[in-house]
Amino acid sequence: MTFNQLRLDGVTRRFGGQDALVDLNLTIERGEFIALLGPSGCGKSTALNCLAGLLPLTAGSIWQDDTRLDTLLPEKRGFGMVFQNYALFPHLTVAKNIAFGLQMRRLPSAEIRRRTDEAIALVHLEQQARKLPGQLSGGQQQRVAIARAVVLEPSLVLMDEPLSNLDAKLRLEMRTEIRRLHQALGLTTVYVTHDQEEALSMADRLVVLRNGRVQQVGTPEQMHTQPANRHVADFMGFRNLLPMKVVHTGPSTVVEGGGLTLHGTAVGDLAIGDAVVAGVRPESLRVADDGFPATVEVVEYQGREVAVEVVTEAGQRLHLRTGTRPAPGDKVRLAVDLSALLVFPAGGES
Ligand code: ATP
Repeated sequence: MTFNQLRLDGVTRRFGGQDALVDLNLTIERGEFIALLGPSGCGKSTALNCLAGLLPLTAGSIWQDDTRLDTLLPEKRGFGMVFQNYALFPHLTVAKNIAFGLQMRRLPSAEIRRRTDEAIALVHLEQQARKLPGQLSGGQQQRVAIARAVVLEPSLVLMDEPLSNLDAKLRLEMRTEIRRLHQALGLTTVYVTHDQEEALSMADRLVVLRNGRVQQVGTPEQMHTQPANRHVADFMGFRNLLPMKVVHTGPSTVVEGGGLTLHGTAVGDLAIGDAVVAGVRPESLRVADDGFPATVEVVEYQGREVAVEVVTEAGQRLHLRTGTRPAPGDKVRLAVDLSALLVFPAGGES
């Protein structure tokens, strides 16, 4: 079953009086890879389960082109699902796990065999086809789960933290693998993760959620360079988030706080006196003769770069990355470029 657009219209889910997901509006184009990203409890799984039909909506609707989906049973939606815990049948071989859905559809046995073989080859499990899930590594088991979902040629694949049970090296490999399958099969994918690196590296667009509410929808580049608020910034690696006050507005916004005066770029409307959070990434703080003074406290060697924690004269802690290796106690002067310092309203958004 194919479609052009999948639309979530004001999708809302409450548990008792508690909002798990509020007014999610999102249009997914065919072939897109969408990541739902946010900290634990932000509503990612709720959104995925609403899409899958495992949870009824409290309000809103879901559309596949002109067909209303949210009133359909899960099995009538034609979606594939891949979970964190693989959910394989332990007593069936790899091949039989993959063939299971095709058998349920009572397809001719020659077609079942052909499509199962293709799916096994797609995830490189030819050597494991006759083994039981318990005889496979975690990564191999997840490949079976993926093959089992895609063999049914679903219109949409839903993945809920599929890599979180794997070790770091395998996680990196499987990222590439899932992206490769997505492209090779022209899949439309909605992928839930709390790992921003995973989301940034895999997705065409990201949806950042917090407390059940969408904070921002955008491409990895947009999220990275133009986070919509301080929560998204925090998630996108703006490790230095400093409480400050606006003292001047104009082409550049001047903020003061913690003994520092900095020039930055406002995100949203700001007025003089507003409480703000000034955000800067560790890699955007640089050593400069005319910068503000700070003392090196912690130095951590990280491959080609050194992660350094400094403390300013007023006691503000900052994180930066350098190519050289300072020693604890060293005095440094630091500056930040106007475009690299983003100034967000301190409160307001949920
Ligand atoms: P995690 O990454 O920890 O799974 P999440 O972002 O997927 O988190 P959800 O599982 O969607 O978050 O949960 C969103 C909110 O809804 C949380 O506050 C959670 O406690 C609540 N919630 C989820 N499922 C239920 C349920 N079945 N009954 C009651 N509350 C629930």
